[in-house]
Amino acid sequence: MDQATSKIPVGISRCLLGDNVRYNGDHKHNRFCTSVLADHFEFVPTCPEVEIGLPVPRKPIRLVDMGNDVRAVESDDPSRDHSIPLLQHGRDYARAQPDLCGFIATPNSPSCGVFGVKLYLPNGHPVNKTEGLFSLALRQSNPLLPIEEAGRLNDAGLRENFIVRVFTLHRWKNLVSTGVTAAGLVAFHSRHKYLVMSRDYAAYKTLGRLVSRLDQPDLQPIADQYIKLLMAALETPPKRGTQCNVLMHLMGYLKQVLSPRDKQELVVSIEDYRRGIVPLIVPIALLRHHFEQQAEEYAYPLQQHYLAPYPHELGLRSHIF
Ligand code: SF4
Repeated sequence: MDQATSKIPVGISRCLLGDNVRYNGDHKHNRFCTSVLADHFEFVPTCPEVEIGLPVPRKPIRLVDMGNDVRAVESDDPSRDHSIPLLQHGRDYARAQPDLCGFIATPNSPSCGVFGVKLYLPNGHPVNKTEGLFSLALRQSNPLLPIEEAGRLNDAGLRENFIVRVFTLHRWKNLVSTGVTAAGLVAFHSRHKYLVMSRDYAAYKTLGRLVSRLDQPDLQPIADQYIKLLMAALETPPKRGTQCNVLMHLMGYLKQVLSPRDKQELVVSIEDYRRGIVPLIVPIALLRHHFEQQAEEYAYPLQQHYLAPYPHELGLRSHIF
């Protein structure tokens, strides 16, 4: 499959690159980002707290629930409130970086954290979990953007799903950069069918219906709706059962040509994956092998991004059980 040759622009919390910008003058260097993802992503770093003018080192900030509002205030002096600049920086960064295809955030940070940032009551008691104010503003300003925390990238399923979403959004941006056409939308959808089916069958049907009514003068509203639905469908990592359905669908293309022995081998590999014995890459590699024996005849399944949603060398599906 074709992959863009240039690196994909992806935002990142600056301390993950090893820069000493944390409140205590330290960093949160993430080797997976700098040694693996950096080969494919052009990182666009930001340290929201430094960029709103705070020094290094600085007083730590925490999120406080004020009733109808969450504020980012200094832990030992709540009158020093940095909420508005952090939210504004999130909006400014989103506006200044429209080409971003993803963002990797530092966990637990009241500015950058996404999923489990501690929220305190004004009396200092932790009360709940929320997201950092920079990330909140970034997400609201760019709802299509896949945003993931660096810590969660240690989970094979979450990691793969984030990378899939980044590459998918990148392909979409490449498509629309040359102008939205009916042929372009149909071709894009055609190549993403099984990827969507592996995540969300209802979305697969809805997206199919959307691209079946492209006989309209202005395709932009449909394109906007399409990518919104697609990125939402890809948000949740696929389950083994839906992956197996897609693998069986793809195997259907080969039913006339596989020898009984090859068929049995493929069925066993899918079943072994279903039972958690072998990783996803095993049945996928077998399928690809058979399709590539007659690449011309199997051009359609071979062009499915499901079979290769990102560069092979990332090797992520070797860890998906
Ligand atoms: S978590 Fe965000 S705000 Fe905190 S040091 Fe890292 S980049 Fe800066």
